[in-house]
Amino acid sequence: MTHLSQIKRRHTKVVKIGRVKIGGSNPIAIQSMCKTDTHDVDATINQIKNLERAGCEIIRVAVLDMAAARVLGRIKQAISLPLVADIHFDFRLALEAIKQGVDKIRINPGNIGARDRVEAVVKAARAKHVPIRIGVNSGSIPADILKKNNGPTPAGMVEAALREIKILEELDFHDIVISLKATDVLTMTQAHRLLSRKVDYPQHLGVTEAGLPWTGTIKSTAGLAILLNEGIGDTIRVSLTGDPVEEVRVAWEILKSLRLREHGRTIISCPTCGRTQIDLIGLAKKIDAATARITKPITIAVMGCPVNGPGEAREADIGVAGTIGQGIIFKKGKIIATVPEAEILPRLLKEIETL
Ligand code: SF4
Repeated sequence: MTHLSQIKRRHTKVVKIGRVKIGGSNPIAIQSMCKTDTHDVDATINQIKNLERAGCEIIRVAVLDMAAARVLGRIKQAISLPLVADIHFDFRLALEAIKQGVDKIRINPGNIGARDRVEAVVKAARAKHVPIRIGVNSGSIPADILKKNNGPTPAGMVEAALREIKILEELDFHDIVISLKATDVLTMTQAHRLLSRKVDYPQHLGVTEAGLPWTGTIKSTAGLAILLNEGIGDTIRVSLTGDPVEEVRVAWEILKSLRLREHGRTIISCPTCGRTQIDLIGLAKKIDAATARITKPITIAVMGCPVNGPGEAREADIGVAGTIGQGIIFKKGKIIATVPEAEILPRLLKEIETL
């Protein structure tokens, strides 16, 4: 049993991305990005469906050329997640993506070029209620801002974002989401913090190029948790060099750890010590795998001994504390059975079903 956190979220403007609302008091949404070639419609749809099953709530695809832009409608029709088109520079791709029915576009107006092109994109986005995400990356700050700040600083990233925002605001377009991505955790966190004092548009958080799953998970958690704890962040993405499903799973664990969202099962398991009398690590892994698909928020405790078992895991909905060759099963803090080691897993799963 969990209860939602006391973190006071910063108030931001509400922006609608298809059926998902972000900002305001809406839940922090989890995003991911397809790693497939967007032209390969079947592979892209498959990946999106896998991500949705893992709990992804908004999906972005790279749109590199007109052929990719033209398949967006087919992708959109086959999925239920809001679809975001990631476009660089070419305003015609943005227009086509909007025509194909995407729910958000990610494009920097400063990169589009001539004013009439920016106006065309804004006009099309406005007509279809498609928000625009401005994405500033520490690696692509305009040269004059870089020079002024002596490199890619948080202040420079904010200045670059404000410049992009101004272009849209001058066209009376306010359906804006902003991301300030850096691979350096302190740069990214400070940039978002500074930005949050200047504008109230929803912020999309991510530590970019965070690395392979192990280091990437830690680095992303460090960056996202700092900001989320300060109430900053309306959507998040964990970027990992690996399976995007893993990105979504990590994102959920971050939000669950801060009690910002509830989702699926949470496993509390002890580290084991000299008191452990059963194969606890093996058991915890089996329970983890067997309960991965549970969407209801429940807490399962897997403890190595009865000394600290039911006591430390009192908050758990269901749990086991190992003893010599046996497991003491407890539910909502009360012991309900003692079973041989081999029967712990089936018994726990049976009890979980009844919850
Ligand atoms: S719950 Fe028991 S076995 Fe696990 S670490 Fe604590 S004392 Fe050791």
